[in-house]
Amino acid sequence: MDSKVGKIHSIKPCALNNGPGARYTVFLEGCNLHCSFCNTPDSWSAEKGKEYTLEALFEDMQNYESTLRLSNGGVTFSGGEPLLQPDFVLSFFMLCKKNNIHTALATSGSILNDSVNVLLEWTDLVILDIKGFNKSFYKESVGCDLDTILSFLDYTQQINKRLWVRYVVIPGITDNPEEVSALSKHLANFKNLERIELIPFQKNCEYKWHEADREYTLQEIPAPSERELLKVLEIFYHNHLRVFIL
Ligand code: SF4
Repeated sequence: MDSKVGKIHSIKPCALNNGPGARYTVFLEGCNLHCSFCNTPDSWSAEKGKEYTLEALFEDMQNYESTLRLSNGGVTFSGGEPLLQPDFVLSFFMLCKKNNIHTALATSGSILNDSVNVLLEWTDLVILDIKGFNKSFYKESVGCDLDTILSFLDYTQQINKRLWVRYVVIPGITDNPEEVSALSKHLANFKNLERIELIPFQKNCEYKWHEADREYTLQEIPAPSERELLKVLEIFYHNHLRVFIL
């Protein structure tokens, strides 16, 4: 894909949960994974989405620039998987940095290559979705190797990149105390990690799975209770990590 044209699933002009302050958040189309708990299965296909030129997207962002600046916010690229369109994101981030606008990348961390390395140089903050700490869960329910994600995590530390980690709490699936504890001990080694954000599992996107004609396997799983969320939060907290619930 041309670095001047991006395939976009949707845009939230002033989202409040995608990095510091208000964020012009661009959800790119296409994903290389197939998480069983995905709330945007309609973003998986790289064939869909609306094409935006770099200039058109930047011009649209500028309509909200004063709000972004007033809130100490900026621009976040998410998905889908934004690292599938690294050249477009890079071109956009270069424009942002020229205009002194903060840049964040919300990613699964499943792709690391030369283009991504360059993109990370222009990224102020990485928001990394870590979906569990269990190799077979990653393989079966996410669609990649846990080791790939851990290599990406290592790389953020190697380049001393500001890092937030997101973790979806799914009762009976990702809230196993031993696994959460092992993950939090692992994360405690990362000096570039500023915070963990816990996302309570929700089923409000189940209809998107049906619309996309995909089988949804989590219909029997409830949203976590406050108690279940706090148990996970305590484990991270116990390992001296700053934890927030979104
Ligand atoms: S990486 Fe994100 S967009 Fe892709 S399948 Fe997983 S949750 Fe969905």
